[in-house]
Amino acid sequence: SIAFEGLTKRFGTTDVVRGIDLAVPSGAFLSLLGPSGCGKSTLLRMLAGLEDPSEGRILFDGEVVNDVPPGRRDIAMVFQSYALYPHMTVAQNIAYPLRKRGVKRAERDAAVARVAAMLQLDALLARRPRELSGGQQQRVALGRALVRDPRIFLLDEPLSNLDATLRSLMRSELVALHRRIGRTMVYVTHDQLEAMTMSTHVAVIDGGVLQQFGSPADVYRRPANRMVAGFIGTPA
Ligand code: ATP
Ligand code: MG
Repeated sequence: SIAFEGLTKRFGTTDVVRGIDLAVPSGAFLSLLGPSGCGKSTLLRMLAGLEDPSEGRILFDGEVVNDVPPGRRDIAMVFQSYALYPHMTVAQNIAYPLRKRGVKRAERDAAVARVAAMLQLDALLARRPRELSGGQQQRVALGRALVRDPRIFLLDEPLSNLDATLRSLMRSELVALHRRIGRTMVYVTHDQLEAMTMSTHVAVIDGGVLQQFGSPADVYRRPANRMVAGFIGTPA
C-alpha cells in the first residue's frame, strides 16, 4: 500500500503540494490527474525519494519511508524527461538496472528480450538513444523500468511523446501488464481519458490541493466540485 499523510512541499514560500492525504492498497493503479503545474511530478518525486517533503509522511506498506534513500525504496521510475544513457545501446540501457544489481549475463539477455518484445523494440536493440525517435526513446525508458520487478512503479506521463496509435496501444499494454504483475503503479497524467480508462483509483489535483480521490466511476459520475467537473468534462 501507499499512503500520504498531510504531504506538503514548499519551494521558497510557495506550497506546490498542500496537505495531501490519501491511501491506496497494494496492486492499485493510481492516477495523479491535474493540469500542468498542479504538483503531480513533485508528488511523484517525493514518492521516489528525489524530493524531501516539507511536511507530512509517506508510507509504503505501513512503513514510513521519508528517510529511506531512493535506492532502497524498491521502486522503478519513468521520468517525464526520460534520461537514457547516451553512450549505451538500447539493450544496454534496458539491462542496466539488472547489471547494477549483479544479475548474470544470460538472465539479463533473457529479460531484455522479453521487455523488447513487449515494447516492440527488438529491431532497435543495437542502436544508441540519439538514433531513436522521441517515442522510441520513451519506450526504452519504459523498458528499463519494466526489466526489474519493483514493489512500486512510478510513471510520469510516460506516453506523452508517442503518436496516437502507439499511445493507445501502450495504454492497453500498461493495463495488461498491471493485471499480469499486480504491482502498485502511480501514473501521472494531465489526460483525463487516460486516467479514467487505466486506473483503479484517481486523485484529481489542482493548485497542489487534492480535489477528489476515488474510483474513476466516482469521479466521473459524482465530481466533488466545479474544478473536477470541468476538468473531467473537457475533452483532451
Ligand atoms: P506538468 O503537467 O507541467 O508536468 P506538474 O503537475 O508535474 O506539471 P510540478 O512539476 O510538480 O507540476 O510543479 C508544480 C509547481 O512547482 C510548478 O509551479 C513548478 O514551477 C514548481 N516547481 C517544481 N519544481 C520546483 C523547484 N525545484 N523549485 C521551485 N519551484 C518548483
Ligand atoms: Mg510534471
